[in-house]
Amino acid sequence: MIETETAKSKNSKNVFFFAPGESDGNAGMKNILGGKGANLAEMTALGLPVPPGLTISTEVCTAYYENGGKIPDTVKPKVLEALSRVEKCVGKKFGDVKNPLLVSVRSGARASMPGMMDTILNLGLNDQTVAGLIAMTGNARFAWDSYRRFLQMYSDVVLNINSSLFDVTLEDMKSDKGVHLDTDLTAEDLQKLTQKYKEQIRFSTGRNFPEDPFDQLWGAVNAVFRSWNTARAITYREMHSIPAEWGTAVNVQAMVFGNQGFDCATGVAFTRNPSTGEKKFYGEFLLNAQGEDVVAGIRTPQPLMKIDGKDSMEEKMPEVYQQLTDVFKKLEGHYRDMQDIEFTVEKGRLWMLQTRNGKRTAAAALRIACDLVSEKVISKKEALLRLDPASLDQLLHPTLDPKAVKTLLAQGLPASPGGVCGEIVFNPEDAVEEKEKGKNVILVRIETSPEDIAGMIAAKGILTTRGGMTSHAAVVARGMGKCCVAGCGEVEIDYNEGVMRARGYNLKKGDIITLDGSTGEIFLGKVPTQEPKFDESFETVMGWADEVRRMKVRANAETPMDAQTARKYGAEGIGLCRTEHMFFGADRIDAVREMILSDTQKEREAALEKLLPMQRTDFLQLFQIMEGFPVTIRLLDPPLHEFLPQTDKDIAELAKRIGWNEGKLKQKIASLHEFNPMLGHRGCRLGITYPEIYRMQVRALAEAAAELAAKGKKILPEIMIPLIASEKELAILKKLTELEVLSVQKTLKVKFDYLIGTMIELPRAALTAEEIARSAEFFSFGTNDLTQTALGLSRDDSSRFLATYVQQGIFAKDPFVSIDQQGVGQLVKMGVERGRRCKPDLKIGVCGEHGGDPASIHFFDSAGLDYVSCSPYRVPIARLAAAQSTLGAG
Ligand code: PEP
Ligand code: MG
Repeated sequence: MIETETAKSKNSKNVFFFAPGESDGNAGMKNILGGKGANLAEMTALGLPVPPGLTISTEVCTAYYENGGKIPDTVKPKVLEALSRVEKCVGKKFGDVKNPLLVSVRSGARASMPGMMDTILNLGLNDQTVAGLIAMTGNARFAWDSYRRFLQMYSDVVLNINSSLFDVTLEDMKSDKGVHLDTDLTAEDLQKLTQKYKEQIRFSTGRNFPEDPFDQLWGAVNAVFRSWNTARAITYREMHSIPAEWGTAVNVQAMVFGNQGFDCATGVAFTRNPSTGEKKFYGEFLLNAQGEDVVAGIRTPQPLMKIDGKDSMEEKMPEVYQQLTDVFKKLEGHYRDMQDIEFTVEKGRLWMLQTRNGKRTAAAALRIACDLVSEKVISKKEALLRLDPASLDQLLHPTLDPKAVKTLLAQGLPASPGGVCGEIVFNPEDAVEEKEKGKNVILVRIETSPEDIAGMIAAKGILTTRGGMTSHAAVVARGMGKCCVAGCGEVEIDYNEGVMRARGYNLKKGDIITLDGSTGEIFLGKVPTQEPKFDESFETVMGWADEVRRMKVRANAETPMDAQTARKYGAEGIGLCRTEHMFFGADRIDAVREMILSDTQKEREAALEKLLPMQRTDFLQLFQIMEGFPVTIRLLDPPLHEFLPQTDKDIAELAKRIGWNEGKLKQKIASLHEFNPMLGHRGCRLGITYPEIYRMQVRALAEAAAELAAKGKKILPEIMIPLIASEKELAILKKLTELEVLSVQKTLKVKFDYLIGTMIELPRAALTAEEIARSAEFFSFGTNDLTQTALGLSRDDSSRFLATYVQQGIFAKDPFVSIDQQGVGQLVKMGVERGRRCKPDLKIGVCGEHGGDPASIHFFDSAGLDYVSCSPYRVPIARLAAAQSTLGAG
């Protein structure tokens, strides 16, 4: 039976035993067992070979922090009791000098956080138990190797001693012995190494290494809980919106060894290709290696399946390979999703160490979703609900132009797709610094580690010379949707000299390279990129989304190019055409400025006359591209000074071009200065004070509409008035608009339908929506301004402190990105409800940035909006998110 979360939280049980046939937990208990613990328990129930162990619940992590960073006393006896059950299962004893049980101690949060938290292997070894391990295995070299690895890991994770100290000692030992590989060191060498490591520990901490296995155990459990709050874990949590309260579980599990010889191995696998989604097992393994070696990318692993020219597991260990593929099928069938699996082979015997739903690229997610639906494993509804709308962004990234002439610099592994170019940096600090200067950078590393996370976020792309497709760099980059080429062994990096060498080229910091994350190629210099093309599965999934979603999706677009992109991505019309963006064209900005600088209405009308034909063409193009779909045109909104030059040089040039005296021009510009322009002379206030501006815009769009209507084209113009605070404003401007349209229709003798509506972007508009609706045929929530005005938070100035607000949890998310449901959301709900009190069928949408944010989209759906409008590139995201809303997500 799957225990429910509520039942669990009342339950005081916080240590859970697992072993084949006798586990306390199951896959439904992720919240308290963490993903790893829950799935280990589930695998035992499936009859899979899992080394026995115990899971200390995530609730203990919370209690640990509440208890001032101490493991609560009540927990320890429970751990010891479960540990004795583990001892019984494996017939070994923890701390026993003859027959020692060794354990791994690993973190495991609810959401997987690859490589972000700490792991310790071989715990329980000391100068006595190592002798027991030698006696048990008859393999002294293996035993001493395990011991020295344990000392290093423990020192790093628990004692905070820099791991590189131990690396240097290891390298010194190898050079003394004249050998190149760790595997060339003898048992005696490794024994000496352990003594040197211990001296180092004494030197660094002033204390002896804890020989008592129980001290080691509590030290490790403490360290795993502490690792929940390291800087890198916090950064990762912030990026993936994982709440700090979730905490991590700790898994203590009997060790199995993949490093006892060449009948042993360790590996990582996916049941389908995580980059492309192809239905083929996909994985890597290392012979004679220990758990973390594959993940850490220290040695370059070999493929599981037969590939020409490589030593595959299929050939080297055919029986285990067969068993493993059976396990893959069983796990995928059970979880009904692609699995990411870790395993170890000990003396020819397979052990499963982890399974979880595998992280995948957006392209792979779509393909897997389509395949699972056609394999009848999941329904379309389930497929839609599983996809992460925001991840579709990855598909919208450019790829390299295949026709471009390129100079291949090196070939690595295609770890995460996309084509990017940028300047080389060799460390994460430089990546952050150069990014802040506005540069595109490629982070080039021998390998990445969790400490590099800030640099990886800052970089456009990541290149590593070591590590496979499941290395830290590959897994993290894929999760971020960031282009990554990993394991590019032919590139040599010298951090000291600050160069990377490949095929005779020496490249330094600042030199430009291009990565192709889909092929693993690296090119010299900048290679042009091109727009992405969508494959069949994208279209299929979008088709399913369109079949179910209730809300329409439109785009915010002004230019023909934007409008075409919007159509290509499936937009059902334009929800916001910001006409001011049309005023900045080189062919018209001076006419706009003349209009603004005019002293009299007559002068203003003369300037507007110049703008009219240009605006008419603009609208004509948009109507044509969007034929059959509504096009919402918003009349001029921003404060006029935004169109005027600022610098002395630009002012002088403008004065010359329009034949004005420079001093007079400066004075005029100064007179238009506003202290708080966002609350100043803008929006409908321009239309009220300078009606000729709005009249010109309405005329231009009416003439364009008439021209197309006369040709039998289906056009659906919606004229939108911005920044309305009172119904009177709207009533005046509605009248003006109707008269102008009527005059065009009369003159051109063409009739066409159109709507007049308003933006709801001021709190007063939301509050008085019932009255405003009398004059409005539609509403569109301008949630950018509504957020700005409801929170009294400047759109332009708040970025300086918003990050701190989010970090301190004052805002869960930036309110300009994801709608503040409690506050601004109430205004939206009120606006909808009050507007429809007046007109039950009032068409209502949203055109602020929130229209492309999945969480906000779920909210807008629940508030009863008819459509969302977002930037063209976010249209697919909005289509999927809207479908999920209809299906009950959010
Ligand atoms: C808004 O305020 O949400 C809006 C869409 O208008 P703008 O961003 O142009 O102010
Ligand atoms: Mg606005």
